[in-house]
Amino acid sequence: MLRVRSQEEMLEKYYRKHNLPTTWCPGCGIGTVIGALVRGIEGTGIPPESFVLVTGIGCYGPAGQYIKFNDVHALHGRCPSYGTGLKLANPALYPILLMGDGDASAIGGNHLIHAARRNIDLTAVILNNHTYGMTGGQHSPTTPSGIPAATAPYGVVEDSFDLCRLVQAAGASFVARTTAYHVTQMIGLITRAILHKGFSLVEVESQCPTYFGRYSNNPDPVSLLKWQRDNSVPVEKAREMKPEEIKDKIVTGIFVEEKRKEYVSEYYKIIPRLKEGK
Ligand code: SF4
Repeated sequence: MLRVRSQEEMLEKYYRKHNLPTTWCPGCGIGTVIGALVRGIEGTGIPPESFVLVTGIGCYGPAGQYIKFNDVHALHGRCPSYGTGLKLANPALYPILLMGDGDASAIGGNHLIHAARRNIDLTAVILNNHTYGMTGGQHSPTTPSGIPAATAPYGVVEDSFDLCRLVQAAGASFVARTTAYHVTQMIGLITRAILHKGFSLVEVESQCPTYFGRYSNNPDPVSLLKWQRDNSVPVEKAREMKPEEIKDKIVTGIFVEEKRKEYVSEYYKIIPRLKEGK
């Protein structure tokens, strides 16, 4: 059984204390997600040196500066590609892809769906705050229709992506969603996603008070967290609700968890045949 470490022990073991405090805005959800990530990794019992954080572009990107793991900072949208290379070169590694909604579903949308299609053994923890925070609050593919943004002062016209449905349709074998409010659930889902063999997504609904909050007339981080709490519906309950009842709700929990052929295992089966020239 794993021993529960105190906050001081966790700080010592996992954080690059000399780089703290972080540069994130007060009330931002990223710090909560990083705290849960560390606890989720701890829960796997896998040695920290087996992990590689692959961080994307945006406010979430500097995460690797603050926690003590091997890390590589990827180009725009390319976390799944870097993760694929790492996993193919050394299948013993556990690459964790840290992408925001813009990074994962706009610039990196193609990379994301093909990693899911291959069911390659990577874990993506996508932080969805529905905005491009680092560059000033432009709308992203997950900004809800009607919400204003720096690039949509009268509200976004188009409909948004449902990241879980997108990745599920592409072929991922573990797909789950939680929120920054539901920290205990987030820790458990991250542990489970890492231990799952195949492409795993944990989408985290997170708050950006500085841009998304301000543009949507709700810049108070506490009320954004309360909004997450009051508008979340567990997937089991959502299955019994009508579409109009779950519209605008955050459906949380595990959507997919199944055993399927995994890309790296299949790839390594070919290597002996290559050596024998068959
Ligand atoms: S701009 Fe938004 S996402 Fe970026 S650090 Fe500030 S609150 Fe967080």
